[in-house]
Amino acid sequence: MDDLRYDGRVAIVTGAGRGLGRAHALLLAERGAKVVVNDLGGSKEGEGNDAGPANDVVQEIIAAGGEAVADTNNVGSEDGCHSIVETAVKEFGRIDIVVNNAGISRWATFPEADADNLERTLDVHLRGTWHTTRAAWPYMEEQGYGRVITTTSTGMLGLADNLAYATAKGALIGFTRSLAVAAAPKGILVNCIAPNAVTRPSESATKPNIVTATAVDKARMQAMDTAHVSPMVAYLAHESCQVNGEILVAGGGRFARWFLGITPGWVHEGDGVAPLEAVVEHWDEINDDADYYIPASLHDWASNFMGHLSA
Ligand code: NAD
Repeated sequence: MDDLRYDGRVAIVTGAGRGLGRAHALLLAERGAKVVVNDLGGSKEGEGNDAGPANDVVQEIIAAGGEAVADTNNVGSEDGCHSIVETAVKEFGRIDIVVNNAGISRWATFPEADADNLERTLDVHLRGTWHTTRAAWPYMEEQGYGRVITTTSTGMLGLADNLAYATAKGALIGFTRSLAVAAAPKGILVNCIAPNAVTRPSESATKPNIVTATAVDKARMQAMDTAHVSPMVAYLAHESCQVNGEILVAGGGRFARWFLGITPGWVHEGDGVAPLEAVVEHWDEINDDADYYIPASLHDWASNFMGHLSA
């Protein structure tokens, strides 16, 4: 197939000064996109700021013959998110792609994970994605074209030690799938990446570390390079992308679809409400995932799951 290109397209990648965002920005720029390299430049817990990471990535892109501009706004503030989009429009005249990637990690579980931990985590991951996408939305709507990528985590599958993070990442799945439904008629696609790579948060020597505990040899460490995630992100950002509202897992050279499925379950056929004991008696049927169903949306689910009522 022909090379996938992004000539004439303008992309924002948040948190692109390091880690995964840097890899996404480099690939998009290499393929012709003009990139706003956003990064606040703080610690992995989200403390402080430093223009160095964003500027370094911009220099790297320009040295390779690409076009990019640095932006050090904080996605943890609504004004910051609007300013990022303003940077794109002011510097490059439009906005086609938003890769919501910026993230922090403040390890704590109950009861240590307090309101401050939750709010700061939600500010960057959830509200940052919400406000940046919302600021870009009118431009995408007007041009009838846009690609939005959100970043979740397989940590959402169950990560007790980083509870607020897993909570925020779960919320992003609801955001992605629901915004995708609203986006489709406007020519905008919204999809979610669940990446896996060795970066600052996963390199921590002092915190639980699933990735480095298993990736012990050099070849496996190389496979955990951030660049292995970016081809999937770039596809989701491309004009030819065919999917909407999906969650894709990428890392270590492996690419997969992550979906939300529902079992056919058990239907109470007697009169009135099913007795409590019947739920227990039919537990195996309720949980039998042999013929699970993957709903595309709430309406799709409702017509399928409640189908027995109209039979
Ligand atoms: P990283 O720390 O290497 O990079 C994150 C970047 O985001 C940093 O450069 C940081 O300065 C920037 N950032 C943080 N808060 C910001 C803010 N408020 N405004 C602007 N920039 C900000 O981490 P990473 O591993 O590359 O993570 C990137 C994304 O991928 C995050 O959303 C993370 O949760 C997600 N993720 C990563 C992995 C993994 O295996 N590395 C797994 C699942 C999800």
